[in-house]
Amino acid sequence: MVLAQLGGSISRALQQMSNATIIDEKVLNECLNEITRALLQSDVQFKLVRDMQTNIKKIVNLDDLAAGHNKRKIIQQAIFNELCKMLDPGKPSFTPKKGKTSVVMFVGLQGSGKTTTCTKYAFYHQKKGWKPALVCADTFRAGAFDQLKQNATKAKIPFYGSYMESDPVKIAVEGVETFKKENCDLIIVDTSGRHKQEAALFEEMRQVSEATKPDLVIFVMDSSIGQAAFDQAQAFKQSVSVGAVIVTKMDGHAKGGGALSAVAATKSPVIFIGTGEHMDEFEVFDVKPFVSRLLG
Ligand code: GDP
Repeated sequence: MVLAQLGGSISRALQQMSNATIIDEKVLNECLNEITRALLQSDVQFKLVRDMQTNIKKIVNLDDLAAGHNKRKIIQQAIFNELCKMLDPGKPSFTPKKGKTSVVMFVGLQGSGKTTTCTKYAFYHQKKGWKPALVCADTFRAGAFDQLKQNATKAKIPFYGSYMESDPVKIAVEGVETFKKENCDLIIVDTSGRHKQEAALFEEMRQVSEATKPDLVIFVMDSSIGQAAFDQAQAFKQSVSVGAVIVTKMDGHAKGGGALSAVAATKSPVIFIGTGEHMDEFEVFDVKPFVSRLLG
């Protein structure tokens, strides 16, 4: 279910509830079940949805609601707060500072949009006056360096990589050192992805991370992976210290639920979303407007 549909379903469920003459437990349960179905169809993990339902029932005590109170509003507010809570891990991610060198490492499965997102992230900061640089530490996929090179050249961002060297750790370290000397303030390391969550991928990530000591590790996730989001995000978090999430492909047939699962699994906030293939199709992620849109 795409975001707009989810908002529509939730609004309809709330509307149906307020159409009822008396809002009793049965009506509330029906409404919450309807919302649960909508969230599940949007790929929010089952456990998260169940917890949300329990929390709302705890908050919304029908007996305590004085007559005349707008019950629909109260329930809507409770749902809004619960969804915001799900998207807020409670602590902000590390935020690089302009003029001060930060190393940011990107991880994610192949095809998630990692390389594209690295350039978008660099481009976003470059427009704000930063001095970003890109390092291609993906020696696994043939063509990875060419792709990064092409993107970087288009955006006029310095890049580092090699056609000959097969050791990703060596390239990552050399790239980071090179750009530190050049006083770049945002050194972005693109790592290799695999089709599956293979042990070799995680081992390589761990080694690159140990060698480059990134200030921030960003997990890039394709929003269309559905219910697999939680397990995938958790697997990455267990291997490297993921500190932030970027959800890609939120345009088109994007589902919103994966974002909630990724936050829950990594205990890290979503910081940006990708909304297209182009360099500038990239938005800062803000919890409240996102949830407002979600609820329609
Ligand atoms: P990687 O293997 O993870 O590095 O993935 P790529 O960066 O090569 O991206 C895989 C495909 O997804 C490419 O065709 C990208 O243009 C596309 N892509 C990446 N981000 C987005 C996005 O936000 N929206 C859309 N529609 N496509 C995207």
